[in-house]
Amino acid sequence: MTKLKVKTGKREELYEITSEVQRAVAGSGVNEGICHIYVPHTTAAVLIQEAADPAVGRDVATHLHRIFPPGDTYEHLEGNADAHLKAAVVGNTVTVFVEKGKLCLGTWQGIFFCEFDGPRTREVWVRVQG
Ligand code: ZN
Repeated sequence: MTKLKVKTGKREELYEITSEVQRAVAGSGVNEGICHIYVPHTTAAVLIQEAADPAVGRDVATHLHRIFPPGDTYEHLEGNADAHLKAAVVGNTVTVFVEKGKLCLGTWQGIFFCEFDGPRTREVWVRVQG
């Protein structure tokens, strides 16, 4: 397993990590298989979305912010209940096929780490199975 570090700079933001994950795939030596990408946090998530236009990632963050605003009334009193809900709907794992040592992503797709309670130093765990 490879543990990637992601240093986030804002409370809520999506960071494309496709090239870091691809590097982990290359380092694994696996040519044909499956790449599991797992975020071991409860206020962050991982998502496959359009990477060609960075506005898409900003729209995802902006509209999740509207759906789960930080100042709303929540039972969880730690002050980050909105971040837990955003992470819950996005999810903490994605799986991508690997062929010829490369991630099989659609033309417009990229892998995004989603920060909902930053800034922090986060981890993304990547495991490649042949
Ligand atoms: Zn909390």
